[in-house]
Amino acid sequence: MSNCAIVGINWGDEGKGRMVDLLTEKYDVVVRFQGGGNAGHTVVNEKGKFMLHLLPSGIFRKGVINILGNGVALDPENLWLEMQEVVKQGVSLTPENLKISDRASILLPWHRDLDALEEQRLQDKKYGSTKQGIAPFYSDKFQKKTILAGELFYPEELKAHLADLLEWKNLTLTKVYGTEPYTMEMLEQWMEAYCEKIKPYICDTTVVLEEAQKEGKGILFEAQLGSLRDLDYGIYPYTTSSNTTAGYIPIGSGLPSARVSDIVGVVKAYSTCVGEGPFVCERFGEEAEKLRKAGFEYGAKTGRPRRVGPMDIVATKYGVRVQDATEIALTKLDVLSYMDKIPVCTHYLLHGKQTDAFPFPVALKEAKPVIEYFDGWNCDISKARTWEDLPKQAQDYVTFIEKAIGCPITYVSVGPERDSIIRRSKENFHEE
Ligand code: GDP
Repeated sequence: MSNCAIVGINWGDEGKGRMVDLLTEKYDVVVRFQGGGNAGHTVVNEKGKFMLHLLPSGIFRKGVINILGNGVALDPENLWLEMQEVVKQGVSLTPENLKISDRASILLPWHRDLDALEEQRLQDKKYGSTKQGIAPFYSDKFQKKTILAGELFYPEELKAHLADLLEWKNLTLTKVYGTEPYTMEMLEQWMEAYCEKIKPYICDTTVVLEEAQKEGKGILFEAQLGSLRDLDYGIYPYTTSSNTTAGYIPIGSGLPSARVSDIVGVVKAYSTCVGEGPFVCERFGEEAEKLRKAGFEYGAKTGRPRRVGPMDIVATKYGVRVQDATEIALTKLDVLSYMDKIPVCTHYLLHGKQTDAFPFPVALKEAKPVIEYFDGWNCDISKARTWEDLPKQAQDYVTFIEKAIGCPITYVSVGPERDSIIRRSKENFHEE
């Protein structure tokens, strides 16, 4: 069976979680391959409403194996708290349906501290971090200054390794930021409280994935955030600290031979952005507030109001390209139903020239949006389940976007619930 990736095309929060929850009906294994507990995937299904941060969104389906790959920032504290929350809501989590890679690096308690301390030091130049420790964690991973989940099975070696890391990290904490040092007792208590709890779920997940592949099982790869937050292709330095693009799958999933034929890029029918950084199509004032309210655009992890704007064709086209997306799921179309005229940012104006090429990150702050208006449909479309159920104006909006970004829209989502979806065949797409 062919494999599939669900990735974000824009700044994140596109609705990847709801798409993974929907599409897992066809897959046997779901793998998170990057990022950490700073994700906020909201899933609404027959079991209730869930906010997932680190757990893969396939945990609601019976028989699906969910894997946290080696590319994730494994935060045992947040993971354990999230697991308990989800179990309380009636979802079963066992070492059979949840597996953690023994090669995943562990996010240690000081990573969260350092994240907050650095944002505080930066003051008005801050990155807008969710303060979950992600940037300090990935820096340490690449410096080889953290521990692998599998080390929990080697307590003697682990203790010596932690002692070395402690000595090193305390230098930064006390001498750079002037805070209290960590002690070995503090670390050991933390390991006992969280790492020991997730230990039964840790195993060699590469073996599990290779076995699944050999048996012809379908694997779905779930990303966090979106193209524009990718460390290498995104709006650096306002990116996250990992690769959010599908190209990272063979590394971060722990399946080196991963072949992904279907890359579903998730795009919101308008734009939102959490945190700092250039956001060319941003709208302000009453217009922005109306859209924010209509789409309930407040960060899942932080509660922060999201910055909002119209669909940005320039950024979306770029996002499609760097993900190498083969099809698009357009979400939250229903949110635009209140608009008489729907703005779309079709181009940027940069140094007096109109362009549809996404600029180098530093140049983004000079770019101005070029806006075109489309007719709204002014009616409730949340009950639409087929393409024909959509009013002509909504169909026109969708087909304009797919032509402009050069990728077929095969799913149109009109509500947060699992079945609030319209499926379209790729045949409908004719590139200009
Ligand atoms: P993710 O991080 O990409 O999974 O996205 P989030 O979960 O942060 O944000 C998407 C939000 O939109 C969630 O609250 C979803 O329940 C909600 N949502 C997803 N699709 C739709 C849709 O088609 N219509 C509406 N109204 N809400 C949606």
